Amino acid sequence: MGVPVWLSLGSNMGDRRGYLLFALQRLTEHPAIELRAVSSLYVTEPWGVRGQEDYFNIAVAINTTLSPHELLAYTQSIENASGRQRTTRWGARQLDIDIILFGEQQIDEERLQIPHPRFKIICIAALV
Ligand code: AMP
Repeated sequence: MGVPVWLSLGSNMGDRRGYLLFALQRLTEHPAIELRAVSSLYVTEPWGVRGQEDYFNIAVAINTTLSPHELLAYTQSIENASGRQRTTRWGARQLDIDIILFGEQQIDEERLQIPHPRFKIICIAALV
């Protein structure tokens, strides 16, 4: 069903594992999203701002019939439901959901870039 999509989920505030599980549950609840695979949990150091907790990260493979913009709206609604406050750009966050790859799509708009511009950095951070 639908297009294969890779998501990167991260949390570095509060109940980090709980926020990732919350996001997974919300993704599975959507009728147009099929959860296909979830990676192990990776702990990575935050970058950009000092003095924050480490990130708990997982990569998630889904298939979806949503458009890229519909998926972004849904993932942002999950971030907002986690209580995330959008303060500083690289600030600590309960939940961050990035759309890394969306099938073969290439999008370069201000609110949506696919493949995600930090894709390489995310991969390196997950591997070291
Ligand atoms: P961040 O602070 O990393 O959560 O960035 C959030 C902003 O990145 C949002 O306003 C999104 O519209 C934008 N954005 C651009 N491309 C993407 C993407 N591929 N996945 C998620 N957010 C994106």
